[in-house]
Amino acid sequence: MASIQFLKGIGPKKAELFARLGLETLDDLLFNFPRKWEDRRLPGKKEPLPFVEDAPVLKGKIKTVRDLYTSGRLRIFKLTLETRYGEAEASFFKRHSPRFDVFAGLRKDLREGRTVWITGTPEDPLFMSRVRADEYYLDDDVRALKMHVGRLVPVYPLTEGLTARMMREAVYTAAASLAETVGEFLPPDLAARRGLAARDLAARAIHFPENNFELVQARRRFIYEELLLLALAWAIKRRQTRSVEKNFTYEIKKTLLTPFRQNLGFSLTAAQAHAINEIFADMQAPVPMARLLEGDVGSGKTVVALSAMLLAAENGGQSVFAAPTEILAEQHHFTFEKFLKGLGLRFALLTGRMKGAVRKKLLEELAEGKIDILIGTHAVIGAGVKFKNLRLVVVDEQHRFGVRQRAALRAKGDRVDMLIMTATPIPRTLFLALYGDLDLSVIKEMPPGRKPVKTTEAGEEIAFRAAADEAAKGRQVYIVYPVIEETQDADMKSVKAEFARLQALFKGRKVDMLHGRLPSELKKQVMEDFAAGRTDILVATQVIEVGIDVPNATLMVINNAERFGLASLHQLRGRVGRGRWDSRCLLVPYARTGDSAERLRAMVQTSNGFELSERDIYIRGAGEILGLRQHGDMDLKLADMSRDKEILEQAIEDREAILAADPDLQTRPNAGLRRKLHDLYAERWNLIDLS
Ligand code: ADP
Ligand code: MG
Repeated sequence: MASIQFLKGIGPKKAELFARLGLETLDDLLFNFPRKWEDRRLPGKKEPLPFVEDAPVLKGKIKTVRDLYTSGRLRIFKLTLETRYGEAEASFFKRHSPRFDVFAGLRKDLREGRTVWITGTPEDPLFMSRVRADEYYLDDDVRALKMHVGRLVPVYPLTEGLTARMMREAVYTAAASLAETVGEFLPPDLAARRGLAARDLAARAIHFPENNFELVQARRRFIYEELLLLALAWAIKRRQTRSVEKNFTYEIKKTLLTPFRQNLGFSLTAAQAHAINEIFADMQAPVPMARLLEGDVGSGKTVVALSAMLLAAENGGQSVFAAPTEILAEQHHFTFEKFLKGLGLRFALLTGRMKGAVRKKLLEELAEGKIDILIGTHAVIGAGVKFKNLRLVVVDEQHRFGVRQRAALRAKGDRVDMLIMTATPIPRTLFLALYGDLDLSVIKEMPPGRKPVKTTEAGEEIAFRAAADEAAKGRQVYIVYPVIEETQDADMKSVKAEFARLQALFKGRKVDMLHGRLPSELKKQVMEDFAAGRTDILVATQVIEVGIDVPNATLMVINNAERFGLASLHQLRGRVGRGRWDSRCLLVPYARTGDSAERLRAMVQTSNGFELSERDIYIRGAGEILGLRQHGDMDLKLADMSRDKEILEQAIEDREAILAADPDLQTRPNAGLRRKLHDLYAERWNLIDLS
């Protein structure tokens, strides 16, 4: 592929700078899409677009030029210009140098009588009569006017030593010579039917659109292309996972399941029973299970997962249960102790913190098949972790694990079943695009007796008074802070610092403290004391986000509420409203950060996890929520699945038609699709049947 060194003006030194951004070939340059665009057209010629930033531009004839020194080491080069809209002033600032004239270049270019374009920051945005200048271009510089000013201009990520101007020039030259892979690869009838811009034209227009229409068309073209490839990749991945058969069968013996049910102390909701039936049917089927279990916070997913693990154990198989954090893993371990009591099962906890002899012994027992259920963090994926007979993989909080991590876990057994759980409900279309290889079970119903939790914003004083009132009535209270210890950030309160203060404030009440850095034994003791009602007020970090179930707790106070994500806030709120009393959640913000006001408003307005999740996706974007960015699972440069919902729907519809007619993409019109899929996803997702 042609190296960018073939471009005029790019020698080995500059090429090095581009390489730092991962740009080595002409195609790299062309498919390094702009981060955004600036509208550098003159006022009057501008038309707004949502993804284009309005950039102020001055154009005028130079009337006077002045070179000023300030008292400091600053020099100012000041122009007055005659523009269509009246007189304007533009100033360039530079640090003085005793060795050379910092304005030599400007003085040569910017002479009286010449017409010049200037970009910069207006000091009076309304009239543009005074501007702090940034870039300038002479009106007779035909080439500059083609790419830098007087048009829509692309903006790219840069690196030290590589200016925006250099980058634009390189891309412009590359686009003019149009490198090899920009040719069309979509089936011709499809591109025509969806009215997509031709790929080579779009590749140019995405960087240097002549007008708004071209830019909109070019973006749509590439967004569609990205989403269609993703949708196809999922479908093929799905087919592949389901094309193998398990080498074992399951029998529902109930030797463990029946005593487990009797142990529970409650009966399953209809929704839980339904999910369990779907999972058992999958596990008994010849093809490995790949299922997503979706259910709001507190809907009881753990019991469903435990049932699946018990079915595996009844048939002599091992299970692994992966949680995203140490605290979650510990809490699950704690829950399992309660629910699996007396069943004679062996289960163990593995986290990254476990070292030395203890770890070694555990791994040995696991490899010998002496452990039935392994609970743990990402540590369970590690190379040293080997099973004798792994049959079932359960992943809690799906979005914290990537496709590759899932695959690595799955590879620890032979054709294992996989159950993935999430409290983030995902709209249907998004689900198809994000987890297109999974089947879906949804727990729509909450266990009986849950009460809606009244949520309001409150000041600290009001919140603490409410806490005192609840304690006086014999109820219990959670008071949550974002961090364990004080930090540099004065706006952020910590458990340790506040604990002392709260003990004094709630004199006569039993106040206790819980956070992730307490020794495990102590943590357990604190949780047991609270569960037994011996503690009135529990001051804690997010550790109590999940797992703790105390019906007598009726008030949740979340301090620094602005620091928590919506999912966490919702999880925390889910800790109350579990008994027969009315419960409340008080959000106490100490500052405003980013979109915090929107998040808190959403919390106050709805207690429905599904709705919250949709709002979260809207506020933060799907990629952020579902952890796609970190994992690099998908090749999406322009597409945003929540924003580009309609294009996504089209892509999914087209995928269905394409695969129905040509399941292996063997026909000529689909050859291009096949090649692209191979390039993008074969390695990333291990798509073996695409060659
Ligand atoms: P999540 O879906 O958020 O993981 P959990 O599995 O932690 O929810 O369940 C939340 C709480 O509800 C737990 O304390 C659990 O014991 C309890 N629970 C689960 N199922 C039922 C049920 N059918 N009836 C009553 N309580 C239940
Ligand atoms: Mg859970």
